[in-house]
Amino acid sequence: MQVLENISLKPYNTFGINARAKFFAELHSDNDIAAFFSSLTPERMPFLILGGGSNILFTKDFEGSVGCIRSKGIVKLMEDDSHVYLKIAAGEVWDDVVKYAVDHGWGGIENLSLIPGNAGTGPVQNIGAYGVELKDVIYSVEVADVIARHYRAFRPADCEFGYRSSIFKKKAKDRFIITGICLKLDKQPVLKLDYGDIRQELKNAGINRPSISAVRDIIIKIRSRKLPDPSILGNAGSFFMNPVISADDFARLIRQFPLMPSFRSGDEIKIPGAWLIEQCGFKGKRFGDAGVHGQQPLVLVNYGSATGAEILALAEKIIGSVNRKFGLRMEKEVNIF
Ligand SMILES: Cc1cc2nc3c(=O)[nH]c(=O)nc-3n(C[C@H](O)[C@H](O)[C@H](O)COP(=O)(O)OP(=O)(O)OC[C@H]3O[C@@H](n4cnc5c(N)ncnc54)[C@H](O)[C@@H]3O)c2cc1C
Repeated sequence: MQVLENISLKPYNTFGINARAKFFAELHSDNDIAAFFSSLTPERMPFLILGGGSNILFTKDFEGSVGCIRSKGIVKLMEDDSHVYLKIAAGEVWDDVVKYAVDHGWGGIENLSLIPGNAGTGPVQNIGAYGVELKDVIYSVEVADVIARHYRAFRPADCEFGYRSSIFKKKAKDRFIITGICLKLDKQPVLKLDYGDIRQELKNAGINRPSISAVRDIIIKIRSRKLPDPSILGNAGSFFMNPVISADDFARLIRQFPLMPSFRSGDEIKIPGAWLIEQCGFKGKRFGDAGVHGQQPLVLVNYGSATGAEILALAEKIIGSVNRKFGLRMEKEVNIF
């Protein structure tokens, strides 16, 4: 492990924010992770673990140590008649894992195609898309416990998975470094096609009996059309989560705003944040180099040289505006540093 000093984090975050790390190391193995922690003398603290940098906004320089997880490896641990269990190093690129599973005909994660970032970061916010969440396929999460200084594994029930949330993002933030995950995938895949445009797109493509590979291709097509590519336009995907409210609160709101869209989420109601932001007039708006994406208003973008503070100020402006108009609180999905 090589520790570098005063490194620009611009290539390491998809917003393309030019913050600097006082100390920086790429961690290619569990040994590197252990060495990184041994290197954390008081003058090298605080520390930050970085994956693909696709869910992070740097609002200032990081005056401590950044450890960037780059460990690789996908191993089939075991299989039975119906499932295969894969152990995946935290630094594997998530979409490479999806491709690997789909290429082998193992189902369960094809709807999570093209989500940027590391496999090991998936549990942090229980990544989700097109009706599937990581919690549906996770078998265990392997971690290094920074406080107790040992390694352990979490079963899904201990991960406190919720909507874009987990114990790793909330209660135990900064305590556990995820070193690997184990997925339980289906050898007889059950397709999930009822979300968004999947069925329609398959029909348009003339596909009547889709394979998981066809589903992956369609999802990649839809996502590429709807979401900005971070290598062209800096962004971190949805900056906000959709507000989730009770059925009673929704009944009150819909009387005042009859056109408000909604969808059920268990006993609660989710309101599409994109609609709320659009109603407040922010869709496609640009403030200097910070902006709101023209097609997907949940996504904030960096047109070039926006600072993290400018993007955060825009986010706060949107939160205030939605709150004044609808009385709803937009929570940030992106991790702010
Ligand atoms: C264009 C685009 C589309 C997106 N679409 C989706 C989507 O559909 N669904 C979705 O859920 N997300 C989506 N995202 C968000 C993002 O891709 C995911 O949250 C992803 O899991 C982040 O992974 P990362 O490695 O880039 O995380 P980073 O941004 O590097 O880190 C995110 C947080 O996790 C922590 N962390 C990182 N690695 C570890 C580790 N090994 N152990 C402990 N903590 C760690 C970091 O400290 C940080 O707090 C999208 C992002 C973009 C840019």
